[in-house]
Amino acid sequence: MSTPLIEHRIGGKPMGDPATVGDVHDPATGSVQAHVAFADAKTVDRAVEAARAVQETWRGTSVPRRAKVLFAFRDLVEAHRDDLARAITAEHGKTLSDAAGEVDRGLEVVEFACGIGHLLKGEHSEQVGPGIDSYSVRQPVGVVAGITPFNFPAMVPMWMFPVALACGNAFLLKPSEKDPTPATLLADLLAEAGLPDGVFNVVHGDRTTVEALLDHPGIGAVSFVGSTPVARAVYERGAAAGKRVQALGGAKNHAVVMPDADLELAADALVSAAYGSAGERCMAVSAVVAVGEVADDLVEALRERVAALRVGPGTDDVDFGPLISAEHRDRVRGYVDAGEQAGARLVVDGRDLDLAGDGFFLGASLFDDVEPDQSIYTDEIFGPVLSVLRVDTLADAIDLVNAGPYGNGTAIFTSDGGAARAFQDRIEVGMVGINVPIPVPIAFHSFGGWKSSLFGDLHVYGPDAVRFYTRTKVVTARWPESQRRGIDL
Ligand code: NAD
Repeated sequence: MSTPLIEHRIGGKPMGDPATVGDVHDPATGSVQAHVAFADAKTVDRAVEAARAVQETWRGTSVPRRAKVLFAFRDLVEAHRDDLARAITAEHGKTLSDAAGEVDRGLEVVEFACGIGHLLKGEHSEQVGPGIDSYSVRQPVGVVAGITPFNFPAMVPMWMFPVALACGNAFLLKPSEKDPTPATLLADLLAEAGLPDGVFNVVHGDRTTVEALLDHPGIGAVSFVGSTPVARAVYERGAAAGKRVQALGGAKNHAVVMPDADLELAADALVSAAYGSAGERCMAVSAVVAVGEVADDLVEALRERVAALRVGPGTDDVDFGPLISAEHRDRVRGYVDAGEQAGARLVVDGRDLDLAGDGFFLGASLFDDVEPDQSIYTDEIFGPVLSVLRVDTLADAIDLVNAGPYGNGTAIFTSDGGAARAFQDRIEVGMVGINVPIPVPIAFHSFGGWKSSLFGDLHVYGPDAVRFYTRTKVVTARWPESQRRGIDL
């Protein structure tokens, strides 16, 4: 049987040159299950033209009608939740329940975008001069693009396009080439919901495709989510080409555990946050900072839980599935080797995992007594590896977190409101959890980190997305009253 080809969606049609493709693996078996077409600059240009051809009409479509399409899309995504989850698990490897959860989080943004009528309202000032009024309106940017990572192949695109489309833009999505199918399923559902052909397009590919998008003069704004080095490069190249860019990067998220924390609650939360989705989450907790005397008990509570985690194919009843690729699995394993060699105490060794077959599996590892200069701490590993560092005071913990280059998410576990408030105030991180390990904001707030976790000014989804995907126009108007008196007997 020939290998299936995953094609672009341009102007409502599938297309793709079978000569330029990448492999899509099943991470649970290691086999190649499909090829994905890669777009060159010419194909990107075709997609931009398809989007441009319909964007004016879409922009002219009334706001309630645009919202109606999103309402229909919302219902379709909900109806196809399990199909989407299966497609995510097949190419990403995460468990089915995790995949369904990702669809649900994406749906929240669609629901937010359904209220676009309220969100697009401008501002009005009466009588700013004699007989003069001033008001602002929000107009779409035009054709915009989204470039997304492998780890949330449905949710991260849904962080972007619902609001962009609702605002009247046409959208080009470049999903990760490692798990491209969910993006094409979403394109099919948007078409079924009544979105006109060409308003939403999918171009698959790698760096070449991304650079063609960044350089294309027909694209006005780019949203990117991925690793920090690529986010920085995308931000610089897109901005140099005169575009608006928001580029979300990688992370090293800390959870601080105070001596007064509920230890059982903290240990459960930390294990879920560190090892869920095999640690391949930008909001995963990868460093625990144990304050004072809590450390020994905390490490023991973590050890018990981590040693019991079940690893296997995402379609089975397991806690987490394989990593995305053989290279990535080997890289993560290399970090465990490096941590051990550097002198950190390896409390649970995930390298021992023995599963039949060629899947990209790696067990859960836990390190204690990690030092801030060791690579298991300095680098984003993006795998099932958790490091525990020990400090004396809350102030030391805050200084440690703030010294790092990233600022995506962080959390504190404590029963002391004063400590939580000091932490929330002083920490240089964009999203903070208080007894909540993964503080991903709800869709009517916006999502974004600080420092090397985000390049640009505005966060994704929520109110910031409405600002990102629209341009403000301010009108100053004078309408002199008519001097005509008319007939006066
Ligand atoms: P990645 O940076 O390798 O790829 C992201 C996207 O960029 C993909 O579409 C890919 O095709 C493209 N790309 C890859 N290399 C490129 C290059 N040199 N030039 C131009 N484009 C390129 O990221 P990934 O491995 O797919 O995803 C994991 C990373 O994403 C982690 O670092 C994770 O923390 C981060 N992430 C961040 C967030 C966030 O909200 N901050 C969310 C999810 C993932």
